[in-house]
Amino acid sequence: MKTTANQTDMTDSFCALLQVPANPDASKRHRMLNNRLAGLDLANTCNRCGGCGQYSFCAMYGSTCFGCGGSGMVAPKLTAALYRKAEALVESGKLAEYLTDLRAKTEAKRAADRAVNGVMTAWRASGVSEAYNWHKAAQGVPYDEEISDTVNAPMCELFDAVNKAAQLCDRNTFTYRLRSVKTAEERKALDAEFATMRFELAKQAEAAVAQIQELAKLIPAIQEKHNAKA
Ligand SMILES: [Zn+2]
Repeated sequence: MKTTANQTDMTDSFCALLQVPANPDASKRHRMLNNRLAGLDLANTCNRCGGCGQYSFCAMYGSTCFGCGGSGMVAPKLTAALYRKAEALVESGKLAEYLTDLRAKTEAKRAADRAVNGVMTAWRASGVSEAYNWHKAAQGVPYDEEISDTVNAPMCELFDAVNKAAQLCDRNTFTYRLRSVKTAEERKALDAEFATMRFELAKQAEAAVAQIQELAKLIPAIQEKHNAKA
């Protein structure tokens, strides 16, 4: 790496070193590069917000810091000295560690985003709403009441629980919680807390889908029992 290299060459060298994929959108590529530098602790803490990503005159109205775009970190100048530091971190396995962690978090976020819809889809696909009449169930007709109580009610509970858990780690809640963050450490802790919640939500949704599919299997037996009585 020549110290005379211009900044564009520098960007290309850093992107190659830190495995930033090619992207026709230069600003996206830059953002990814900066995220990786931050992930390797090579970025600088934003002076304006002190690393929390929020900047406001009044504690009640948090707002995204425009010094760092809310990330809490600002891009360092791409120099030969920084390149050598980054190279050492790549060799020590720190980059691989960061990328593995990033993939896990991205996957958890995707799974969390799909969680509510996934459970709703399984609930619909179970056919429970076609298997009984809720109006008759409310009037106490034995067959409809049994389907309602033993099949649909627990499905509804599973859905509600996933829906509630999803709200606790959705974007709005994150933005709201971010308002009370004051330091870079608190910001990191909040990110980690949400990553864990999303991971747990994805597992909860998967379990709920499996339980809904099991509950649906009760329907034919209940139908048979009541047909035999009739
Ligand atoms: Zn900032």
